[in-house]
Amino acid sequence: MGKDRRLATRVVRAARSLPAGEGVPVTPPLVQSVAFDYRSAARQDAVFGGEATGYVYGRYGTPTTAALEEALAELEGAGSAVCFTSGMAAIAAYVDACALAGGGRVVAQEDVYGGTRSLFERWARERRAAITFVDATDHAAVERALRDAPTALLYIEAIANPLLRVADVAELASLAHAHGAKLGIDATFATPVLLRPLALGADVVIHSLTKYLNGHGDAMGGAVVGGAEVARTMRDRTISDGAHLPPHEAWLVIRGLRTLDLRVRRQCGSALLVARHLETHAKVARVHYPGLASHPQHELATRQLGGLFGGIVTFDLADATKAAAFRFLDALELAASATTLGDLYTEVLYPAISSHRRVEAPERRRMGIGEGTLRISVGIEDPEDILTDLDAALEGV
Ligand code: PLP
Repeated sequence: MGKDRRLATRVVRAARSLPAGEGVPVTPPLVQSVAFDYRSAARQDAVFGGEATGYVYGRYGTPTTAALEEALAELEGAGSAVCFTSGMAAIAAYVDACALAGGGRVVAQEDVYGGTRSLFERWARERRAAITFVDATDHAAVERALRDAPTALLYIEAIANPLLRVADVAELASLAHAHGAKLGIDATFATPVLLRPLALGADVVIHSLTKYLNGHGDAMGGAVVGGAEVARTMRDRTISDGAHLPPHEAWLVIRGLRTLDLRVRRQCGSALLVARHLETHAKVARVHYPGLASHPQHELATRQLGGLFGGIVTFDLADATKAAAFRFLDALELAASATTLGDLYTEVLYPAISSHRRVEAPERRRMGIGEGTLRISVGIEDPEDILTDLDAALEGV
């Protein structure tokens, strides 16, 4: 920059790029820039026109988020991934763009995350969107729903929130495809450590990056992972609807992703201990955990999830009342009573007042989510300390 410029100009223009020098950083650079300078109008035109690779504007994609997208595509064995500001933004973009916007019908698992369920219900109410809910573990019911009317998308959670029902991805993929529908799998609870849905026939994988993939409770994000056509449609949505994941969040998720395998394996091991322990506890009526022989899809989980069963354990208190659940939550000392999952820290959630608050109580109960249902996201602390904390809290119930 010209030294003859005045101070007010020099401070504004200072340090716009990094000085050259040997040494590649061992962590990827956080490129916290909304816009890019091409130093040539012709080059800018080529980038904006898609004839040259490059970056246009924050909403269109940035280098740090692109690095995360490449990593996610590679981990899922997919052609591409597009990142969104949250898991819900990813779900909304995919289900709307790839099914509902074209007048297509969606068959969705009934016991999905409460936020997803209430989004679908709102769309059905406000837009008359054709969305039918089914029990995804009842394949005859899924097939009946698919046969009822032409369907664009079968929408499933690999391990459902919060009851941890396990979906048979290969079987559901062939059912969906036989009826001309795509299969979209929300694999947030499974992560690529337990499951690669595309290898089993799914068309698209969705993740809330907020959960295990980041794992540190300090960033939100979502991703749609799939083929080139889905990526084009999703990219168009981030550009026009404006929910593209900003670079700082992407940088945090990349940081978290590095320890995904270590964290998830430890959490799965501890979760199995917690599930076995709670199963014998007098104050517990029922434990939902795919690693227990009592789980209805235990055999499927054993076959499909690579010998791991996830880091979440859900259980029903014997005293299935809100008062008992509150006493339990208030007595926890190590675990946080918090509405998230997949973090380093143990977190307990009460679906009736949080994740599934907006699902009508009778429907919630019909699905099996009662007043005494609690969900534990097991952290990486010493498992003995987690068990001690849970026991002490159950003592006072
Ligand atoms: N999918 C599942 C299975 C979830 O549990 C959640 C949130 O809990 C979401 C999607 C939504 O993710 P986000 O909170 O990042 O929007």
